Amino acid sequence: MSSARSAASCRTALARRGQCSRRRIVMRVGAARRHSKVLPRREQLMSEHMRAVPLRELSPEIEQLRIQLIFSNPNAQSAQPSSQLRTLFPSAPAFFRFSCPCADCDGDFDLTDAVSSLLTSLSGHKRAASFAGQLSCHGVQFRDHARLQVSCPMQLSFQLLSEPHRAD
Ligand SMILES: [Zn+2]
Repeated sequence: MSSARSAASCRTALARRGQCSRRRIVMRVGAARRHSKVLPRREQLMSEHMRAVPLRELSPEIEQLRIQLIFSNPNAQSAQPSSQLRTLFPSAPAFFRFSCPCADCDGDFDLTDAVSSLLTSLSGHKRAASFAGQLSCHGVQFRDHARLQVSCPMQLSFQLLSEPHRAD
């Protein structure tokens, strides 16, 4: 008797849940994205960042790696993009591509080779090391609803500074 009742209430619950899920099907009309070509690139960069191996796997000697990024746009009429300082600890993802600070640009600055050079100069030794360089953005800026494409003029001056684990 009680089991029959519970089965009935179960059916009712299922029916209700069915109604709920039907009601929950809402057409998600994607909002028109202003930079339709820029966002997927940035999302891809973020997911690659999440999947990167930790810094300690790349170089167990490094206690922290500081990355200073100074951007300059020679065509800028107003203020330059703010510089960035990132400090990577051993557990941080060893990912060294940084999006161009231009909002309309799909480019990024790849410091992977620079970090490799820094690690090569360390050659397994426990000491501080630095490496500096410059890169140009190879991205394209999409303007006027992506009808107009111009190559991005953004320049980057970077400095890498690695600190070894302190000897105890
Ligand atoms: Zn750019």
